[in-house]
Amino acid sequence: MQDRQFIYLDHAATTATRPEVVDAMLPYFTENFGNPSSVYTFSQKNKAVITRCRETIADTLSAKSNEIYFTAGGSESDNWALKAAAESYASKGKHIITTKIEHHAILHTAQYLEKQGYEVTYLDVDENGIVKIDELKKAIRPDTILISVMFANNEIGSIEPIREIGRIAKEHEILFHTDAVQAYGQIPIDVNEYQIDMLSASGHKINGPKGIGFMYIRTGIQIGSFIHGGGQERSRRAGTENVPGIVGLAKACEIANQTMEERAKKEIAMRDHLIDRILQEVPYVRLNGHRTKRLPNNVNFCFQFVQGESLLIMLDMVGICASSGSACTSGSIDPSHVLLAIGLPSEVAHGSLRLTLGEENTMEEMDYVADHIKEMVEKLRTMSPLYEDFVKTHEE
Ligand SMILES: *Cc1c(COP(=O)(O)O)cnc(C)c1O
Repeated sequence: MQDRQFIYLDHAATTATRPEVVDAMLPYFTENFGNPSSVYTFSQKNKAVITRCRETIADTLSAKSNEIYFTAGGSESDNWALKAAAESYASKGKHIITTKIEHHAILHTAQYLEKQGYEVTYLDVDENGIVKIDELKKAIRPDTILISVMFANNEIGSIEPIREIGRIAKEHEILFHTDAVQAYGQIPIDVNEYQIDMLSASGHKINGPKGIGFMYIRTGIQIGSFIHGGGQERSRRAGTENVPGIVGLAKACEIANQTMEERAKKEIAMRDHLIDRILQEVPYVRLNGHRTKRLPNNVNFCFQFVQGESLLIMLDMVGICASSGSACTSGSIDPSHVLLAIGLPSEVAHGSLRLTLGEENTMEEMDYVADHIKEMVEKLRTMSPLYEDFVKTHEE
């Protein structure tokens, strides 16, 4: 990809669109602009293009092509899954199970549903951010209609026991949705093997365009439409198809899945090198998330006696783009709900730093970043009265 003047380590927030993806999209703006619903040949070609894109994406999940629905991204897919499942299954019950570490697209939708009279159980996670299966089993009730657990967490990268959750949901005949926005394209997903009924994914997290994503909905799942209007997407998601976006998304999905293995290997090596160096060279640091059951590209630390925001500003000054948690919570003063859910006290959670890698990063960059973090954390601590007190009491 492009030569940049900075080191981009915020791939969980968004990624650059691949040049091959842009190339694939371009003709659909200026030349092949026809509305796929029109009857003449020129436009009908675009209908066929969309069908091929659907097949390409379905293949990556071992799904059927008519189980893929194009949406405007991860947030829309998450909203759709929860709201439509709640509405369609209300006669069976009004209880939903999710977790405390979901993305806000799930959490805020769940809160909205609570206001509409639904009951939501937010499962705790262990100290590594992994859902406790026992607690899930205990939470299930006769009126439970939906379980929604993310495939992998966007802040701390922990990978959830999706296979077990799928099995439990199936046993109890409860719908199972997973927000796979971070996992899709990074780790292999087979919707049948994992018994997933609905799955959300997004283009811009996998080097595709922004504002386009998809939802997988298993055949036979009776959930209604999210956007009412025309008959597009088998009448489940109205609106003239975003043809360039769909073409770009399919290309991004195809490449992400073709390159997954090699990319993961490279990213894991860089990730582990960065983690090892920081843990060895910086005192009073905690790695957040599971050491191995984590996304290949995720690194997340808490540095005691350091404000995450101060560290981000200093990193920015040397050209390193990082995050304190999720892009959505940056700029807010509340500590991350994910870090609180794994049991960190809020003063520790405030010292968080998330570095999410991409295939264009290099080992040299990892060393550059580790060197700077080490130096900056030391510097910030010399300015911290809390650290001074801590050192004094530990010297005595
Ligand atoms: C980014 C993200 C979303 C939202 O996706 P958009 O396409 O930006 O709406 C949802 N869930 C997770 C886990 C994410 O990382």
